[in-house]
Amino acid sequence: MSGGAGGAGAARAPGVSGGAVLPPPLRDGRGRVVRDHARGLPWHRCPGCDRAIPPDVRRCSSRRCPEFAPTWARDTRRRLLENLRLVRLSVMFSVTAPGADVYPFESAFCKHGAGVKCSGTIGCRVSRADEKSFNSGAGKAWSDLHRRAKIRADRATGVRGRLLARVWEKQKRGLAHLHGVIAVSTPDELAWAQAYLTALRELAPAHGFGFVDGWEKVGRKLWPGDQAGAYLSSYFVSGRGRKASISENVQDGNLPRVLVLVGVHLTQQTGITMRSLRLARRLWAIREGLIEPDGLVGWDAVVAACVLDRQPLPARGP
Ligand SMILES: [Zn+2]
Ligand SMILES: [Zn+2]
Repeated sequence: MSGGAGGAGAARAPGVSGGAVLPPPLRDGRGRVVRDHARGLPWHRCPGCDRAIPPDVRRCSSRRCPEFAPTWARDTRRRLLENLRLVRLSVMFSVTAPGADVYPFESAFCKHGAGVKCSGTIGCRVSRADEKSFNSGAGKAWSDLHRRAKIRADRATGVRGRLLARVWEKQKRGLAHLHGVIAVSTPDELAWAQAYLTALRELAPAHGFGFVDGWEKVGRKLWPGDQAGAYLSSYFVSGRGRKASISENVQDGNLPRVLVLVGVHLTQQTGITMRSLRLARRLWAIREGLIEPDGLVGWDAVVAACVLDRQPLPARGP
């Protein structure tokens, strides 16, 4: 491998920053370069979003960064598709914010005439203050709700169930909205899914949420895992290749920080995580001679090669 920055003229893959070129160093109020304490290396500002980037990090990795968001969205799609592909059958549910009695529509945003009933579908939305207050607490509120519902369902069925994946998106009225996926490939899984959903529905109001579909609705439609993955990824990216476009959800700063979660029991089998996809891009750049071939060693190197070459992950030794 030739390595080095000699690949300046080489083709750039989407999502790989060109070579080892770093943005200009970050300076403090007095114009001095801000340095890392331990290594003395300069910090930088991301050219895409102005975020401060640590010394030896080449590029921004925030979904809210206009430069990185398309890469984040593509990685998220692959992560959802390849992990959920392992699932034979699933059900999908959603958890909604409370209705207009708790979060009323703000008439300043309304574009309809008098006498028309407010609705998110015609562009009505809640106030910015309500949007911020619900969405900023939604991540924590959901974790608590999920934990309690899981304990109830585990006890009721004697099965230790789990979610396959969950994602946040924003409803038209401005409030965060959660979609979850549960496996129903076996009788045990089916019983757990039913108990979990029943518990979610009962506990949701106490955790500040509104409507949760009952089992009689959710259980009516079964999704093969790959279809569930495609459906969920459509909240972040649509189209393919150069024509792919990302949705506003990706760069939304008001949605919970962890926008997409995929069960560890799935990612351990496939090896497809945001981290391994990032390592695979790095390996690609090393193979192309765009960056120095250093630092990518051990299990990370194995994972990167499997993900890049679309090979199954070998069993990990002790
Ligand atoms: Zn950035
Ligand atoms: Zn309205």
